[in-house]
Amino acid sequence: MKKVLVLGAGQLARMMALAGTPLNLDVKALDVSTNKVVLPTSREYVYGDLNNGIDNADVITAEFEHVSHHILTECERSGKLFPTSDAIKIGGDRRLEKTLLETCHVANAKHYFVNTKVDFDKAIEHLSLPIIFKSALEGYDGKGQWRLKSIADADAIWQDMAEFLSASKTTVKQAIVAEQMVPFDREVSLVGVRRVNGDVAVYPLTENHHSNGVLSVSIATAVNTDLQKQANTIFKALSEKLNYVGVLAIEFFQVGDQLLVNEIAPRVHNSGHWTQQGADTCQFENHLRAICDIPLGSTALIRPTAMVNIIGEDTVSNEVLAIPSLTIHWYNKSKRIGRKMGHINVSGANEQQLVERLIALANVLSKKAFPDLDHFIKAYQAKL
Ligand code: AMP
Repeated sequence: MKKVLVLGAGQLARMMALAGTPLNLDVKALDVSTNKVVLPTSREYVYGDLNNGIDNADVITAEFEHVSHHILTECERSGKLFPTSDAIKIGGDRRLEKTLLETCHVANAKHYFVNTKVDFDKAIEHLSLPIIFKSALEGYDGKGQWRLKSIADADAIWQDMAEFLSASKTTVKQAIVAEQMVPFDREVSLVGVRRVNGDVAVYPLTENHHSNGVLSVSIATAVNTDLQKQANTIFKALSEKLNYVGVLAIEFFQVGDQLLVNEIAPRVHNSGHWTQQGADTCQFENHLRAICDIPLGSTALIRPTAMVNIIGEDTVSNEVLAIPSLTIHWYNKSKRIGRKMGHINVSGANEQQLVERLIALANVLSKKAFPDLDHFIKAYQAKL
């Protein structure tokens, strides 16, 4: 039985543990806030700390990109960490991410790095409004972001950003990445996986809908082959450059028929949760296969599937579970406003059936808790 240690004890570690059990993989997690090794499903203490976790593991991986660098260094030294600490760090620092994209000649939004007021003014000169400013470190789900739409707001936004920069307590120096706002048609992502021997498998592109910067609905259906080819080429270029092992997610803006990379996540990803019910092998199992050097499973779409995030709620009515081909995944977390508490996967034999089931779902969910679902369904229906 191979032993896997996941850095981070959230829902992604939990779903890895659940997917690894049939493969006889023993998955434990390091709760980085307490430095204790825990069971990923219950977060109960099992033994020791980071050093014991490293000693006991055959393979180490991470469920998030903001792991302290000293933890990554310790893990890398053991020779058991996949992907590499460099790949994990790139996902946690937008400067490194942009530099990687430029090195690989991958299209992305025009940008400028901001450390000072002079840089801020140059960014405005260099890019055209509207501009989105994003913290280089510790930014996720739209946090640490400012949007400049009118030049009249520039001073106020700079004041706020300057305070943010000086208050930042990160060990690596914080900065801001200014980015041209992209007038995208839609947001899509590619989840792919690369094994130690260089084998690659990618899932079909997923269409993503965000609300206040947080993913609310993802949908995977048969996709345009040109778009998929573009995404696959980018995946290959980035994963090879990083000598990547494991699941890597790439988020894109689609503008016409071109893809621009928004960001990369060096881990299993929320926009790949649909693979649990919609793909031959789910992303969690494929991540474990890749890092444990087991042949990758098929990433084929087996039926159109949508994923709906449950945010800030810890119950849904039992009627939800009466809907056919619907699976609920709770994360065993305590309720907090805005927190991802679980997700629902809904599948259909075809897109028409999927939309019917989504309508049935929207009818039994609280409109207040899932404000975007009706809107998403209407737009999706219009496209069918
Ligand atoms: P991020 O944290 O970078 O993924 O940003 C959160 C969300 O903000 C994205 O999913 C987009 O909806 C939006 N966004 C971020 N960057 C841009 C951009 N350059 N142009 C337009 N929208 C953006």
